[in-house]
Amino acid sequence: MPRIPLNSRPAQPDSPGLAAAAAHWRSAYVHIPFCASRCPYCDFAVVTVEEGGTDETAERYVQAVIAEIAMEPAFGPIDAINFGGGTPSRLSAEQLGRIVTVLDDRHGLATGVEISLEANPEDWTEQYGAAIVDIGFTRVSFGIQSFDPAVLASLGRSHTPEQGAAAVRSAMNQFFTVNVDLIYGTPGESGASWEATVDRTLSLKPEHLSAYALTVERGTALSRNIAGGAPAPDPDDQADKYEHLVARAPEVRLVRYEVSNWCQPGHHCRYNLSIWAMGEFVGFGLGAHDHRDGRRSYNVTRLDAYLTMVESGVRPRSGSEQLSAPDAERERVAIGLRLVAGVEAGEHGLRFLKSAEGQRHLEAGTVTRKGSRIVVERPLLTDAVARATLSVSP
Ligand code: SF4
Repeated sequence: MPRIPLNSRPAQPDSPGLAAAAAHWRSAYVHIPFCASRCPYCDFAVVTVEEGGTDETAERYVQAVIAEIAMEPAFGPIDAINFGGGTPSRLSAEQLGRIVTVLDDRHGLATGVEISLEANPEDWTEQYGAAIVDIGFTRVSFGIQSFDPAVLASLGRSHTPEQGAAAVRSAMNQFFTVNVDLIYGTPGESGASWEATVDRTLSLKPEHLSAYALTVERGTALSRNIAGGAPAPDPDDQADKYEHLVARAPEVRLVRYEVSNWCQPGHHCRYNLSIWAMGEFVGFGLGAHDHRDGRRSYNVTRLDAYLTMVESGVRPRSGSEQLSAPDAERERVAIGLRLVAGVEAGEHGLRFLKSAEGQRHLEAGTVTRKGSRIVVERPLLTDAVARATLSVSP
């Protein structure tokens, strides 16, 4: 099966030009909430088999998503579609194909559209990969998390390191871009364990890599365990592990282009780049969000409410807000700082640089000014700088 090239000349993922282009891309997100079981750290909108996420419910949900897509005023042409979850790979290729078809029929897909699927390694087969490549999928993102069985067990993941590696290898023969998703800093993960995970990941030479520190979200089993005395993630340990990956990723031509994302030239994730650059996107499915025409809208997060509303012909919104121009500008700067290319300063960025906090960050070298852009030089401090930009009044 041929792998589909999206770009004739590979774009440098950390270039300001690419970040500027991404602000004009239009994306669609489709949330598929079904999972075999709930991982202890997860606070996403998820429905497990035990909670009623049967094959029959999944089919009813697919029909509802298709109906919801038809309710959205014309939006395209769409440059990137991301199927996230949950575990989208629990849907059949035929079900995914019906959703892609209605997105195309209703909104139109741009030439060379990126279509991406989040997948768990234990579900993956070569036949499934081939079937979704035929539909037009160009990218698959595997929730690998770790290559250490003990870490996988404490994260509640059911795949083995071997299943993870086999899924990545198989998909790399089929898709233009394969992403490996890792989690670092799980309590009990030693430095040697993380280094072995990095070794094994790099030996696979994936085109894209995402790595996030384990975070403790309220209401999860992980947070309850920690409240009951279990060890919590250690921020210093997580910082060391992040730095280790930053040092190692270039060994296989992986270029960091966002705080937690690396890729080989030409393999940037269009969907994510467009979100970080404040491009417009529409979202469908449980808990999905939109950002369109200066308005943010949010879908309901209960499956029964979602299905009932869509089946009654009602858009399943739980709320929406019109962003004022100053608020949109503050958000643009705060989110754009995540990019290695930095963000166009604009009026709000300049106001931040002149503020006491901005001056402090400039003097400390946390941020620099590169032409008209603001760049964060110490990625682990990105959230602190973003908070500082948001605290400056418009
Ligand atoms: S597989 Fe992913 S979405 Fe599903 S419960 Fe685990 S972390 Fe959450």
